[in-house]
Amino acid sequence: MRVKLVAFTPDPLTQIYAQARMTTTKGDFEEIYNNNASQDRKIQLVADTLDSGHWSVSRGVSFTFSIAGVSRACSHQLVRHVQGVSWEQQSQRYKQIDTASDWHVLPPSIAANPIALEVYQQSMLESGGAYQKLLQLGIAGEDARMVLPNAARTNLVSTWSFEALKNFLGQRLCTRAQWEIREVAKIMRKEVVSALPWSGKFMTIKCIPTGICNEHNPGNCALLTSNGGRIVWDKVAAKTSG
Ligand SMILES: Cc1cc2nc3c(=O)[nH]c(=O)nc-3n(C[C@H](O)[C@H](O)[C@H](O)COP(=O)(O)OP(=O)(O)OC[C@H]3O[C@@H](n4cnc5c(N)ncnc54)[C@H](O)[C@@H]3O)c2cc1C
Repeated sequence: MRVKLVAFTPDPLTQIYAQARMTTTKGDFEEIYNNNASQDRKIQLVADTLDSGHWSVSRGVSFTFSIAGVSRACSHQLVRHVQGVSWEQQSQRYKQIDTASDWHVLPPSIAANPIALEVYQQSMLESGGAYQKLLQLGIAGEDARMVLPNAARTNLVSTWSFEALKNFLGQRLCTRAQWEIREVAKIMRKEVVSALPWSGKFMTIKCIPTGICNEHNPGNCALLTSNGGRIVWDKVAAKTSG
């Protein structure tokens, strides 16, 4: 997969700071946006505001990602995230799949099991072959695609508000999330935090700010102690969310 932060609001910190500050001072948004408040002052006010749950001040900030080469199974999960998110996806009607190329995803669990790998590769060969035959018979791409598997690769572009991205990462960085969408989430987080290091505190698994796991079946998550679902606040947390 290739996941890239392609564009974002010019100065997200100042944008959120000025949106929050405007609500409690005499100045208008433009004056506050252009004042010379220090970086530390801005970070502090943004943290205080968001920690209080006033996330509407962050909705003026957006991030646009190119998400390429993920499976249709993954894209179906991605597009369930809708509030504050916009999506465009490559059409299987107008863009025919080249089944001679690297056109499908291979899950690591299957790659690691030689017998499962053989079953999987055979299945891909058959569905790719059936797809090509249907096209050759003059069947339109929109109908021929019906034989393609969930594993078929797709490309998307999506734009997220700061708050929407926080909500998404909260769910999909979690060890309960499926491996592929979790991988997408990890890269999205990495891209944003390397551009805006101050944002890392907010772009994290949902359990980290509260210290509570609300998953019914957390499995063997490394963040959890055996003690009542409390989260381990140490290097493990930092590593897993990073
Ligand atoms: C581990 C995991 C397993 C999953 N398994 C399944 C599954 O088996 N089947 C399935 O169908 N889905 C499944 N999902 C998808 C899940 O149910 C959500 O649809 C998806 O994660 C998007 O989250 P969301 O609804 O919070 O996102 P959004 O719809 O983008 O909403 C973001 C936030 O906005 C607020 N919001 C959204 N809509 C409203 C509203 N109408 N009124 C008020 N506030 C609103 C809520 O606070 C919400 O959390 C799974 C998700 C995860 C993480």
